[in-house]
Amino acid sequence: MAEWQTLSDRINSVAPSATLAVDSKAKAMKAAGIDVIGFGAGEPNFPTPDYIVDAAASACHDPKNHHYTPTPGLPPLRKAIAEKTLRDSGYEVSPDQVVVTNGGKQAVYEALQILINPGDEVIIPAPYWTTYPEAVKLAGGKPVTVFSGAENGFAPTVESLEAARTPRTKAIFVNTPSNPTGAVWSEETVRAVGEWAVERHVWVLSDEIYEHLTYDGEKTAYIGAVVPEIRDQLIVLNGVAKTYAMTGWRVGWLIGSLPVAKAAAKLQGHMTSNVADVSQQAALTAVSGSLDAVAMMRKAFDKRRKAIVAGLNAVDGVTCRMPKGAFYAFADVKALLNRPLGKNGNVAKNSSELAELLLEEAHVAAVPGEGFGASGFLRFSYALEDDALAEGMRRFKEWVG
Ligand code: PLP
Repeated sequence: MAEWQTLSDRINSVAPSATLAVDSKAKAMKAAGIDVIGFGAGEPNFPTPDYIVDAAASACHDPKNHHYTPTPGLPPLRKAIAEKTLRDSGYEVSPDQVVVTNGGKQAVYEALQILINPGDEVIIPAPYWTTYPEAVKLAGGKPVTVFSGAENGFAPTVESLEAARTPRTKAIFVNTPSNPTGAVWSEETVRAVGEWAVERHVWVLSDEIYEHLTYDGEKTAYIGAVVPEIRDQLIVLNGVAKTYAMTGWRVGWLIGSLPVAKAAAKLQGHMTSNVADVSQQAALTAVSGSLDAVAMMRKAFDKRRKAIVAGLNAVDGVTCRMPKGAFYAFADVKALLNRPLGKNGNVAKNSSELAELLLEEAHVAAVPGEGFGASGFLRFSYALEDDALAEGMRRFKEWVG
């Protein structure tokens, strides 16, 4: 590429999505006829419930739904999201504070675009969802990661956040239940982080997309409810993808103060305009309906969660704590590094190399921790069939020996 053809520094500074990379390699192997067990995917392996699909199908047949909608979303959907927030999170927001986005991912992107000036810092508790630091960089900001290990339940302490804070600290991400660790932060942790943010004038970006996937009686602690004073400096990021098995419909939202919502709508008006009308109609049916479908998925995931944690801990050199939320097990694989593995005796120096060997030799796809700011770990999604899960664990164990 000639110098004049060089792409922007902005895009060149961004790493590709680690999860999508593993997923596409596994899919390519499958397409080539190889029987790969995929623990890479970040989506429920259930179809969208019929009543939601039916609502979308009838919306599709009505020409009034074939046009642009208001940029921040259909008024009944914004209202339903406000009502759902009161039902689930326990505090009131007005529909005007809601902006419907193309998935939770666009909500993350927009929140950063409207908050961050060049050089502003955003604290990202690690292990983190792979998109956060890249979206911060795309906004011209500087990601500042604060790592918390399994021994701390993968949740940060206020001391560690305070040590990372500088005069440029503008915002912090909160993601509970967490992708990739499945950790559910305790109410005390959420309160401590919220109070710290209020005191230090730091915005909070609360990604609540796994809110309904918690186990063992754990409940999601909503920072806007636990620390009501935070609400003017809080942006909630959420969507229908994980709760209603609707990843492909691309409907998310953000909720902020009125100036935040207006700014997000202004940005979206020049970027993607509204989310597809039919998808919004589907989301309206989902959000204003019951939580029965997610209760069914939770039950299935709970069984698989226990099976995968037992399977992982049975592999020599792997340790995995029991996650309390989402559908991921985050396994410590440091003891597998720098030692011969498999019948070829190949050695992995880091978890990226380990994931590659595991995929190539045992045909098991897991996402390396490097993509989540946590080298030495592998993330296993347990959103797959029970039999496939058991076979994947059997292969992993046999491969390690
Ligand atoms: N936030 C987290 C933590 C996620 O894991 C994901 C998806 O994997 C999202 C947000 C975005 O979801 P979507 O854009 O599909 O709504």
